[in-house]
Amino acid sequence: MSFDLESIVRANILNIKPYSSARDEYTGKEGVFLDANENPFGSVGGGEYNRYPDPYQSEIKHKISKLKHVAVENIFLGNGSDEPIDLMFRVFCEPRIDNVIICPPTYGMYRVSADINDVAIKEVLLQKDYQLDVKGILGAVDEKTKAVFICSPNNPTGNLIENDDIKTILQQFTQGLVFVDEAYIDFTGQESWNQYLDLYPNLVVIQTFSKAWGLAGLRLGMAFASKEIISYFNKVKYPYNIGLATLEVAKNALDNVDQMLDLVDLINQEKIKMLSELEQIESVKNIVPSEANFVLVFLDNATEIYDKLIKDLVIVRDRSRVALCKDSLRITIGTSEENQLFLKAFKKLIS
Ligand SMILES: *Cc1c(COP(=O)(O)O)cnc(C)c1O
Repeated sequence: MSFDLESIVRANILNIKPYSSARDEYTGKEGVFLDANENPFGSVGGGEYNRYPDPYQSEIKHKISKLKHVAVENIFLGNGSDEPIDLMFRVFCEPRIDNVIICPPTYGMYRVSADINDVAIKEVLLQKDYQLDVKGILGAVDEKTKAVFICSPNNPTGNLIENDDIKTILQQFTQGLVFVDEAYIDFTGQESWNQYLDLYPNLVVIQTFSKAWGLAGLRLGMAFASKEIISYFNKVKYPYNIGLATLEVAKNALDNVDQMLDLVDLINQEKIKMLSELEQIESVKNIVPSEANFVLVFLDNATEIYDKLIKDLVIVRDRSRVALCKDSLRITIGTSEENQLFLKAFKKLIS
């Protein structure tokens, strides 16, 4: 596949000389460290946080590498997966000149990040079955199109995107990046696209610790891509973008993968229970088959029901104003008790 990465990097980034931190200039672990203006005595409030963290998070990346079967040099860690999304714009998209393609209804952050970076968006709606309009996407590409965003399983619909369609985009759109957001991949039995980085130099896969791992409060996201793309992300990121406390918690999590798998099983079981209850409710018109930890449910007057649920202190997400989602609520799968409380309030309101 012919793909010229350098030709799509912004000129100011191409030759940038990144900040060189103390921990870039001396990477050894032994010695008397008087190079980073740290406090040698310790940390106020306890804990040992007086030293700057590894700028490239090598220890954690080795653990992720083993778990995901992706080489360390193909991994980037960010402050949530929002960081690699933003870096994609900052490295590759010239403000007010370039554009990206998104496929609504989808994750709102792609648009926000594009807007912040002053990069134009072309919308190619998903089809009625929430699959990609592949012809529409390829037809929307112009010479300034730098990326196509694909979310699978998609948020807010919950369905997986057909792998053959993703493959077609990867093969046909070779002038820019194909961003595959797999925030919910752990809830599926699906193989990650991160196993195909060698085949597709234009591929960027993102995953997160926020959902299946139960670490949304930590803010840790992963990107997988060619080592060239990763090295541009590393050049542009803040030098110490992941803190020591985050690295400690992530290390613990990665040493307890079985616990994550158990939580995923638990959530998937709760989802089955929730679905069987929702299916019996007459006013529920449609439920999108979900591979994620939420379900999108269609019903009349969804916004009204949403407002009333809030009065009962049950908070779901009203997606009614989103393309192709008129009169829908997105319901996250909670604990058994939480789901029962939701169902009780919901049934009372719509009967
Ligand atoms: C939740 C979510 C993320 C994760 O974002 P973080 O910044 O890692 O918390 C990414 N993409 C999609 C589609 C999501 O729903």
